[in-house]
Amino acid sequence: MNFKGIKSKLLRFKRIFTTNWVIFVSSHPRDDTDYYHSGIANMLKCGSSKNGFATYPCLGCGQGQHKVDFSCKGKYCP
Ligand SMILES: [Zn+2]
Repeated sequence: MNFKGIKSKLLRFKRIFTTNWVIFVSSHPRDDTDYYHSGIANMLKCGSSKNGFATYPCLGCGQGQHKVDFSCKGKYCP
């Protein structure tokens, strides 16, 4: 699987949580804890520059730069 395939699967996974997490928690109050909320919030920031990023020079032409966003390294992240 290439990088775009991984990125689109992560976006699909995040979309499931953004649309259903509040509904799920409202019907499962036992999971309505700061522990789960912080883990899910961290996972939703994964792959964005909110977790930090690195820039690398382009290995092909040597002139451009690529920005790589860091992952969350959380247990809720696929
Ligand atoms: Zn992650």
